[in-house]
Amino acid sequence: MDYAVEVSGLVKKYGDFAAVNDISFAVNPGEIFAFLGPNGAGKSTTIKMLTTLLQPTSGRMEINGYDPVTQQDEVRKSFGIVFQDPSLDDELTAYENMEFHGVLYGVAKETREGRIKELLGIVELTDRKDNLVKSFSGGMKRRLEIARGLLHHPKVFFLDEPTQGLDPQTRNHIWDYIKNLSKKEGITIFFTTHYMEEAEKVAQRVAVIDHGKIVTTGSPAELMTQTESATLEEAFLKLTGHEIREEEAGAVDRMRAARRMWRH
Ligand code: ADP
Repeated sequence: MDYAVEVSGLVKKYGDFAAVNDISFAVNPGEIFAFLGPNGAGKSTTIKMLTTLLQPTSGRMEINGYDPVTQQDEVRKSFGIVFQDPSLDDELTAYENMEFHGVLYGVAKETREGRIKELLGIVELTDRKDNLVKSFSGGMKRRLEIARGLLHHPKVFFLDEPTQGLDPQTRNHIWDYIKNLSKKEGITIFFTTHYMEEAEKVAQRVAVIDHGKIVTTGSPAELMTQTESATLEEAFLKLTGHEIREEEAGAVDRMRAARRMWRH
């Protein structure tokens, strides 16, 4: 069987320190997969390697059958991504942001307009399409980023904390859009979140990573049974411990730098 995402023996070292330390997992086509772990566990490093932004030290990866190290163009066409921080152009309208992305990805003119309209409709932004993005709320921006990330018909959609900082109503709506799109177009969803109740509700399968190692994989129900927990949050805490992980200072800066690199 061909997987949508396949990782085997993946390692990323910084000097002697292994940020990602020999991880293996696979995600089925069309699956909604949560990649969970405390701060500093190795989630972003893994996503950056999968999305061609970072070279692995060793190991093998495949996205939609392509190798992110040797087949970067094919891989980049195969996935869409929504980063933690907004990456829209505030001085453009919603439609223009979509159009810009479509041109960048070489989406043919004949199909572009229809696809933009369809996606703006799905995320309920049709009546705001000609407004500047700087007038948008956080939730509207996130919806637009989701629509934009799917414009080029990716097979795999990476979402790094897509609902971070949004109110529960908006979070629910966002997951409804994502689930519907995944079902309608057979898109594989690979997401991170710190909201364990979201992962419990939405994910078909979960991998828990900590200190660069995969601790366990399984459905939320399997993880709860395995740890004798009533909720995924309880299971997560049993699997990864209770001590506070300090948000390490450079992480946000590095994500921003990676995004700038990606856009230029
Ligand atoms: P997460 O996304 O799960 O919060 P990261 O993948 O950002 O974790 O980081 C994993 C570990 O690798 C952390 O300990 C982090 O400090 C370290 N790390 C990440 N990037 C670098 C880098 N460029 N140089 C050195 N260490 C790094």
